[in-house]
Amino acid sequence: MGLNFTHETLGQRLYFGSGKAATNVAEEVARQGASKVMLVASSLESESVRIATSLISIALTCDNVAQHVPIENAQAARKAATDNDIDLLISVGGGSTTGLAKAIALTTGTPILAVATTYAGSEATNVWGLTQGTRKTTGSNNKVLPVAIVYDAQLTYSLPVELSISSGMNAIAHSIDSMWAPRADPINQVLAAEGIRALASGLPMILKNPLSKKGREEALYGAYLSAVSFASAGSGMHHKICHVLGGTYRLPHAQTHAAVLPYVLAFNAPFASEANQRIAYALGASSGLEGLNLLRAVLDVPAGLKDLGFDESNIEEACEIIFPLIPESNPRRVSREDLLQLLHAAWAGEPPASNDER
Ligand code: NAD
Repeated sequence: MGLNFTHETLGQRLYFGSGKAATNVAEEVARQGASKVMLVASSLESESVRIATSLISIALTCDNVAQHVPIENAQAARKAATDNDIDLLISVGGGSTTGLAKAIALTTGTPILAVATTYAGSEATNVWGLTQGTRKTTGSNNKVLPVAIVYDAQLTYSLPVELSISSGMNAIAHSIDSMWAPRADPINQVLAAEGIRALASGLPMILKNPLSKKGREEALYGAYLSAVSFASAGSGMHHKICHVLGGTYRLPHAQTHAAVLPYVLAFNAPFASEANQRIAYALGASSGLEGLNLLRAVLDVPAGLKDLGFDESNIEEACEIIFPLIPESNPRRVSREDLLQLLHAAWAGEPPASNDER
C-alpha cells in the first residue's frame, strides 16, 4: 500500500486506571455537567456498577440488556430516557450493554460514558447494531460513539476465564480484520498490530491467573487499540461472517469470532503479505496463521461452530446471506464455493490450513 490514504480518528476521552473507575466516572460526569444520569447495566453487573458509580447519583436504571440489542428493548429504553429528560447515559458492562446505550443515543443523541468490562471494544467504535426478529442490522453514526471510556482492570477480574479468552479473541479479530477492511490504512494497521501484541501478551497471563493486574491491563489496552483500528478500517470479511452467524442464528458473539477467525486468516493471508507480516511480527511467529494457531493452542480456544450450537444444515443459507456482504477490499476474491468450504471447516473445527498464493 502506498502512502496515499484518508484516515479519520474518532474523538473520545479515555480514562485508564486500575482501581480508578469511581473517580474517573465522577470526573467525567462533572465535565459533562450532567444532572440526570441513566445507568445502563444488566443486573449481572451489579458489583461493577456499585464500584464504578459509587461517587455519583443515578436518576434511572435500565437493565434490559440482551445480546445483539433486540429492537423492542431499545425502543423501551429510548422512551424511558426521553420521558425522564436524561442528559447522560452511563453503560457498565460488555458489548451488549454498550450496544443498548448506543441504541438509545442513536435516536436521542444523549452522550454516553462507557465503562467497559469485556474486551468487545464496542465502547471505542461508532458502530451500532439492532436485531429485529432474526436479522441483525448494523450501521455507523458518530452519535453513538461514547464521549468517554473508563477502563479499570479490576472490574474485569470477575470475567470468567473462558469468556475472557473468547472476548480477547474477538478483540484480536478486530485487529486482524482491520488489516484488509475497506478503509484499512497504515495507521489502522499499526494500532491493530500493537493491539494484537498486547492481547497475545495479556491473555495467557489471565489464563494462568484471572486476577493478574498486568494481564488484565494488557488485554484492555489491546482491546481498545483493536477496536479503534476496527472503527477506522471498517468491517472486513471476518466481521461480515460473524455478524450474520450471531444475528441470524443467535450464536454467542465472542466465541463465534474466536471460532471463525483462523479460517479467514488462513484464507486471506497468502494474498495479503504485508498484513500477514504485521500479524506474524505482533505474534512473534513466522506467519500470522502460525502465530494465531500457537496462541489458540496456549489459550485452549474452543474449536468449531458446531460446539456453539450452529446446525450444519444452516450453512448454505448462511452462505447466501453472507456472500453479497463480503467487501470488495478483501485481498482475495471469494466465491460461493470458497465461502461454503470456509463455513464447513469452521463448523467442524478442522485445523485451518494455509493456502498457496496464486
Ligand atoms: P456481553 O456484553 O453479552 O457479555 C457476555 C457476558 O459476560 C454477559 O453475561 C455479561 O453479563 C458478562 N460480563 C460482562 N462483563 C463481565 C465482568 N467483568 N465480569 C463478569 N461477567 C461479565 O458480551 P460481549 O462479547 O462483551 O459483547 C457482545 C455484543 O457486543 C454483541 O452483541 C456484539 O455484536 C456487540 N459488539 C459491538 C461492537 C460495536 O462496535 N458496535 C463491537 C464488539 C461487540
